Amino acid sequence: MSIHSLLSSARHGRLLNKDEAIKLLNIDYRSEDFYELISTANYISRTKFNNKGLVFAQIGINAEPCSVNCKFCSMGRDHYSLPVTWRKNAAEILSELELFIANGINDLFLMTTADYPVSSFLETSQVIRKHLPDHIRFVANIGDFNFEAARKLKEAGFTGAYHINRLREGIDTTIKPETRINTLNAIRDAGLDLYYCVEPIGPEHTYDELVTEMLRARYYNAQVMAVMRRIPVKGTPLYDKGQIPAIELTKIAAVAGIVTLPPRAMNAHEVTPMTLLAGVNQLYAEYGANPRDTESETEKNRGFSVERAWHMLWEAGYEITKQN
Ligand code: SF4
Repeated sequence: MSIHSLLSSARHGRLLNKDEAIKLLNIDYRSEDFYELISTANYISRTKFNNKGLVFAQIGINAEPCSVNCKFCSMGRDHYSLPVTWRKNAAEILSELELFIANGINDLFLMTTADYPVSSFLETSQVIRKHLPDHIRFVANIGDFNFEAARKLKEAGFTGAYHINRLREGIDTTIKPETRINTLNAIRDAGLDLYYCVEPIGPEHTYDELVTEMLRARYYNAQVMAVMRRIPVKGTPLYDKGQIPAIELTKIAAVAGIVTLPPRAMNAHEVTPMTLLAGVNQLYAEYGANPRDTESETEKNRGFSVERAWHMLWEAGYEITKQN
């Protein structure tokens, strides 16, 4: 099937298979097919999401060496690159939340490193939940957990969880893919919304690897899909591998949106304006610790603020409907 017929069938709602997705990823940037791909992803996304932009805010609530030792992360124990260690308490998180509410966000994410005790996380989260307006969804981004913990997250007021099988999981990280899958199953079985991402994409990853994760997201009915390029953090083992350019991330975002068809939103990270032409309608504002940053308060360095994220969506022609 030609690229044109393939994209036209996707426009009409056909689910693409692995080979077709890889064929799309092999499109040359200099070809007309490339712009047909971008146009198709843009059409599907703007139609499905009614041209509505969304902003999610994530707070990394601790900056501590993490035993999982991911080879790309500034907080891996053996190559910890942040100047300090800390944990935020509920009062500190609440003062950030006040600002988010004033600026309007759709979802609040709380993120920890993998060793952070689930019991402390639940305790803090229950306090935050009490102050969270009902229209803001509440999402956990933590280490692996079982069904019992997933149920507790739901009881604590979480509506969803960000969880993924990373690219080269078990090779560039010390977590077995089976552990990730068990957590994905727990999220599904507890009725939490899944937020998925193909990450962290580097120049060495094959299209086969990327599509495997896109199809996994579709299998698990991810409500929000994303793609993220790896940021080479100085001092981390994968630093020398470099990064992919924005145009490649844009192509991957377009294919991921078409293949996965998330019902709620499509994201590409870190924030890259070009990707907003290819179906990306949701951006992340980031605060606190961040695996891609050597500053422990990412809002002062790599992190995008909520206001900047809304502005960028506006620049891309998305409808901005903030609820405060
Ligand atoms: S990416 Fe997450 S799990 Fe991996 S070392 Fe960093 S904090 Fe730990």
